[in-house]
Amino acid sequence: MYRDESLNCTDCSRPFAFTASEQEFFAAKGFTNKPSRCPDCRAARKAQRGEGGGGARSGGYSGGGAQREMFDAICSTCGKTAQVPFKPRGDKPVYCRDCFTPRQSYR
Ligand SMILES: [Zn+2]
Ligand SMILES: [Zn+2]
Repeated sequence: MYRDESLNCTDCSRPFAFTASEQEFFAAKGFTNKPSRCPDCRAARKAQRGEGGGGARSGGYSGGGAQREMFDAICSTCGKTAQVPFKPRGDKPVYCRDCFTPRQSYR
């Protein structure tokens, strides 16, 4: 069984309740981490992420789940601007989505 727990928010450092039902929900989802932010800060972050992006999410992304932060980079192959899920360091080639696609027997 689960019992209500009191956690401290890493954003506003206020204590908040990690309720039994939330713990159950987390366990059902397979999350092993406890929430690090209070519901207020979580909602605030969600709202922040919702706005100011490159418009509506484009289809075809089959990742599902958590959204990653994307960084701008220049594709080493075609020179176009690319979005990569890691911070480009300059010592490694970066490929845009088109060029990154693994070669297939498709021609
Ligand atoms: Zn908070
Ligand atoms: Zn490219």
